[in-house]
Amino acid sequence: MRILISNDDGIYSPGLAALTRAATEFGEVHVVAPDVERSSASHSISSHPLSYRPTDIPGVRAHRVNGTPADCVALGVHLGAGVDVVLSGLNLGLNLGHGIWHSGTIAAAKQATMLGIRGIALSVPAGEEPVNFEILRPWFSKVLRSLLVEVTTPRLVNVNFPREPRGIVWTRAAVQHYDGRIFPAKDPLGRDVYWFSVTAVEAADQATDRWAVEQRWISMTPLDVDPTDAGLVEQIAAAHPMDTTTARVVSPPVSTTEAATKVRVEEAET
Ligand code: MN
Repeated sequence: MRILISNDDGIYSPGLAALTRAATEFGEVHVVAPDVERSSASHSISSHPLSYRPTDIPGVRAHRVNGTPADCVALGVHLGAGVDVVLSGLNLGLNLGHGIWHSGTIAAAKQATMLGIRGIALSVPAGEEPVNFEILRPWFSKVLRSLLVEVTTPRLVNVNFPREPRGIVWTRAAVQHYDGRIFPAKDPLGRDVYWFSVTAVEAADQATDRWAVEQRWISMTPLDVDPTDAGLVEQIAAAHPMDTTTARVVSPPVSTTEAATKVRVEEAET
């Protein structure tokens, strides 16, 4: 199995080193990761040329890139000799609930899925107390065995580890409460500055990723790259048909290379 590893904490992260150690048990590992930390980069891509420099990580081939997590995966897949799966992490900091939208860790895995390759994002707790990789090491192997060997159906999975797991569960994302807040503060010259960060939410619903980690379960959430509200689209198209009668009826049903190219050009200009 050819495994590409990336992250958003940067190529020198101890989390990436721990994931690399765990992954070598399952195949040939190639690391392609940002040269500096790009946490919260989400799925941004760079509008400057990318470099691809060999980097010394014991036991594996590794390259650092002056780009985002999504850039790294695109480049790693393009320049690598075939990639079967992309692992992203281990992020130092959980990616739960709405964190999915901000996370560079998940974006790297999502970039793989968009290229037709399976993507798995893996995150561990951060905070004042460093996470104990020795306690988690057997759990890393167990999760990778599950997702690389036994259950290969989900194309994109978001995995979060508690500090001392008692097992593994499938979950959905905890998106009932949004925890993003603006925090006002002062800079050293007394000027107003602002942090956009997250606060603890009141409580998490059962069977969500946040609930699972609270209860010391390893959370595995299958994700989809399609953000369409599938339950609503046909219903709303029937109730408010606009220029057609339903979402299924599009007349004429044309998507041509020319039409696609025209839209692509217009995207590039905006
Ligand atoms: Mn990060």
